[in-house]
Amino acid sequence: MSLDLHNDTHMHSTYSDGSATIAAMAETAFEKGLTTIAITDHVPLPFDTRYAMKMEQMAAYRKEITREKRAYEGRMAVKIGLEIEYIPEHKDWFASIASMDWDLTIASVHTLIVGNTPGMVNGNGAEFHTCLDKNFNKDIRTLCRAYYHTLQEAVQTGWFDIVGHLDVLKKHNTKNRFFNEADTWYRELVEDTLDAVRDQKMKLEINMGAMAHPIAVPYPSPWIVKRAQKKGIALVMGSDAHHPKDIGREFDRIQDMLT
Ligand SMILES: [Zn+2]
Ligand SMILES: [Zn+2]
Repeated sequence: MSLDLHNDTHMHSTYSDGSATIAAMAETAFEKGLTTIAITDHVPLPFDTRYAMKMEQMAAYRKEITREKRAYEGRMAVKIGLEIEYIPEHKDWFASIASMDWDLTIASVHTLIVGNTPGMVNGNGAEFHTCLDKNFNKDIRTLCRAYYHTLQEAVQTGWFDIVGHLDVLKKHNTKNRFFNEADTWYRELVEDTLDAVRDQKMKLEINMGAMAHPIAVPYPSPWIVKRAQKKGIALVMGSDAHHPKDIGREFDRIQDMLT
């Protein structure tokens, strides 16, 4: 398995919901011995959220990463990245942002809109419950289907390099409270999504951000990573760090989890 543990392709700065500047993130990454990083703040959204970058910040964001890229040239590669959310109802908005010149883009689904109501699948527990109850009438299978179909649609746009936290909807599924990943209906959704990733020649992120939540299993779960490897999908590591201390978090544990 070729998995570069010195490459962290997913982290946030104060441009979105991170706690440190781009310069501070780069400095810590270099001190931790990483050789490649991507700054991937949350894409601006066409509605208000507590976590996204503002559209008018985008030029400064790109400029600031470019400055770090030059500062670390020859010592550590710094990529101008973006975690782009995909919401079909706002496809044109994201298309214009994705078409800008990025070193690396991540496709993520955080929000599912039903009717006119956005529901967060990866927010806190209360937000997940609200999404399940109000948007999906307490039907977890419909929620899972909507999530994976939206992610497949994102993949099929061909706009992205990496699929982010593929099974993030399991965030609150401790002790299989909502669903069982071993069930056929769920496994089929995952298989179809992986096939789409393979067909687009995208990479799959192993996101260690999950280790900070009660679920404590990476996104995606090891069985999904193994299926991806069987399909020949390339893997990359992402810490989803929102603080410098979390850069490269628990990357050294992944090999054991996959054996
Ligand atoms: Zn995300
Ligand atoms: Zn993220």
